[in-house]
Amino acid sequence: MTHARPVAGLGSPPSSTMTELKQANLARVLRQIIVDGQTTRASVAGRTGLSIQTVSNLVAELIDLGLICESGQVSSRGGRPITLIERRPAGAYLIGVDVGERGIAVEFFDFTLTRIDQVFGSSETTQTPAAIRQYLGEALTTLETRNPTAWPRVVGVGLGLPGVVEPASGVQLESAHPAGSSSRTELRFDEQILYAQSLGWAPVAISELMSTDLPVFAQNGAKVHTKGEQWFGALRDTEHAVVVLIGRGVGLGLISGGVLLEGSHGSAGEWGHVRIEDDGRPCRCGGHGCLETYVGADGLLTSWADAGGEFDGTGSASVECLIASSTPAATRVVDQAIARLGRALGGIVNVMNPERIVIGGWVGQLLMATRAQQIDHAIRDNALDRAAHQFTLYPSTFGGDSVAMGAATLPMEVLIQTPAMLAGR
Ligand SMILES: [Zn+2]
Repeated sequence: MTHARPVAGLGSPPSSTMTELKQANLARVLRQIIVDGQTTRASVAGRTGLSIQTVSNLVAELIDLGLICESGQVSSRGGRPITLIERRPAGAYLIGVDVGERGIAVEFFDFTLTRIDQVFGSSETTQTPAAIRQYLGEALTTLETRNPTAWPRVVGVGLGLPGVVEPASGVQLESAHPAGSSSRTELRFDEQILYAQSLGWAPVAISELMSTDLPVFAQNGAKVHTKGEQWFGALRDTEHAVVVLIGRGVGLGLISGGVLLEGSHGSAGEWGHVRIEDDGRPCRCGGHGCLETYVGADGLLTSWADAGGEFDGTGSASVECLIASSTPAATRVVDQAIARLGRALGGIVNVMNPERIVIGGWVGQLLMATRAQQIDHAIRDNALDRAAHQFTLYPSTFGGDSVAMGAATLPMEVLIQTPAMLAGR
């Protein structure tokens, strides 16, 4: 018995290939509208290479799905008004979480990535995976209670985490027990695992950090910050870039050919623990002489104390004071840190050949506010001539919220691939 081959033509149902093509085009159009902010159908057609008729059909579908809206008109050269389109703020909601060194920020964003609510847990109450899980559960309940009408259109939660987030590997891992819990937990091979060596944690499955009915997506903090810069910041039109995040720790996001580099198991960019001194300072990762022990917040303050500086505490006020101080000791400490940063980043320039370097994080921002030119020279002096003249240095586009906002782009990317996921909600 033979089966008749389906013949494409009028009246025949769309093949799966055609459906896939349409889905891919829908994602392209939505992605372009997000990148452009406010735009027109003709502009989207021009930028995606799709026909104006195809774009018009897909825009109509996105309007039906409640994700975008028409937002006024501008007059064209011929006098005919052109309708503007943009994301509908209430079209979707995204939650971004920054599990950071100063505590946990849980931020609630509308579809334009405008923050509309947030809750914050101090680091004293969020030291272990078990405590983080409990805090995040309470935080989501708080946000849901305060935003009842928005909640049905929440796409998911993005977590920006302190450590290596290994993708679901398909390899069965040894059982392990997260700190703070006495029970042994079998790590499932089909989910992401956080390796937070600097915090002294055993490997922990993401489901151990957060339990919710919402989809959860996890990534390293520096990498989600890099995604934020790619989507909405200094890297919007760049294919080759390096993003440095300096806080207490030092992180890196590497973009090559428009792709955020993960490495074989997700640890690409763990730059803070590159050894830059033999027999150097002990690091919280267990090693010695790591870059972050000289350039991170604690490292800067250790250098200042060693140089006779007097200050209270280890927080941002002390680092601010150090960088603002004009005493010879403080100036020398900051100069040395920038020299080390330049040496380390010069090597990255030789390896990556970036078009742009972005420096952020709360310490990075303080340094860039007053010492950007010095940092720029320090990097170029430590790179090969040609590559040293092929990048531009930028401060981060975002303030202290960069990680939570960047984390919110993780569920946003899933929505782009499946724009109908919120239909009917
Ligand atoms: Zn280290």
